Amino acid sequence: MKVWERSKVAPLIEKAFDDELSLHDIYVLLRDGEVWALGSAANSLKRRMYGNVCTYIKNMILNYTNECVVECKFCAFYKSPGKGYFYDPSFAAKLVKNVYEKYKIRQVLIQGGVSPKINIEYFEDMFKLIKKFSPKVSIHALSPVEIDFLSRKHKMSYREVLERLKEAGMDSLPGGGAELLVERVRRIISPRKIGVDKWIEIILTAHELGIPTSVTMMYGHVETIEERAIHIYRLREIQKKKKGSLAFIAWNFEPGNTVLAKEYNIKYPHGGYELLKIVSVARLAFKDWIPHIQAGWLTVGKDVAQLALNHGADDWGGTLYSEKVIPATGLRIRFPTEKDIRRWIEGAGCIPKERDSMYRVIE
Ligand code: SF4
Repeated sequence: MKVWERSKVAPLIEKAFDDELSLHDIYVLLRDGEVWALGSAANSLKRRMYGNVCTYIKNMILNYTNECVVECKFCAFYKSPGKGYFYDPSFAAKLVKNVYEKYKIRQVLIQGGVSPKINIEYFEDMFKLIKKFSPKVSIHALSPVEIDFLSRKHKMSYREVLERLKEAGMDSLPGGGAELLVERVRRIISPRKIGVDKWIEIILTAHELGIPTSVTMMYGHVETIEERAIHIYRLREIQKKKKGSLAFIAWNFEPGNTVLAKEYNIKYPHGGYELLKIVSVARLAFKDWIPHIQAGWLTVGKDVAQLALNHGADDWGGTLYSEKVIPATGLRIRFPTEKDIRRWIEGAGCIPKERDSMYRVIE
């Protein structure tokens, strides 16, 4: 007997294996599905796809500036222009080189604020120098938010901006700035950020140019269950127009030091229970459309991430050396070594395998 046969949403779970979940199906699973039933079904689907393997990547985050004019209400990281820090391209490339030489990282994830000081030449110089100093490191950089900013600043199309960045060395585009792809939510949590249509247009343009992306979700703030379902559904529908997103990464809103938490009196972060449901339903909804799902250790911690590996996630994520955004919320994090990550993956009953930026196992 399958574990989920006793679930009140068993028919929908069965449907996920052979058919495609509708928006309403996703909503009902998120609303009524028991986490044990969703998790066992999602894990069964994951094992069909990847067996017992869980991948991870040695990477670092380069937060090149915290100056930002977008001022998202959920963000504890940004400072007004002139009040934060700003790395010039050669300093940034030397930082990457140092971390590469110390840890043999395979990827640099480049994220920062939208500072008036940045322009396309700034990123072109940075990417070229990183490739010069650390040629084996893949550049996973920026997000649709910066692509839109550069497009407006230089009066160039999204395609032109992405082509130039690709030419300079950008290997893939993170799907940051998605938060929740629902306008009502975006107007509350980040009213100055690009809207849903532009975010989707940029992701699709990247896919058309052969630039892989990842897609993200931030939950646990002002959204409803229905809006979570809309977000998951939209991410899958983007792939049908032009496939190219390799992974889905969900994380909870961290309320510490944020305007949003004060305005909406949000005192505590949503815990691991929500993440497990979202990861499980995402696996059932995405199947191969978005093939990889990360365990989300950065905000929920290693114990919940280990559970996520048994609820449909197949990838631990990265070592994230040098990450600065989450510590700005006041959350204390001890960044793990590769050895820690392998041990934790084994502790979850999985086989750890190192991967590259394209999710290819390399050992
Ligand atoms: S989330 Fe990004 S775009 Fe929004 S304020 Fe923070 S740094 Fe700026």
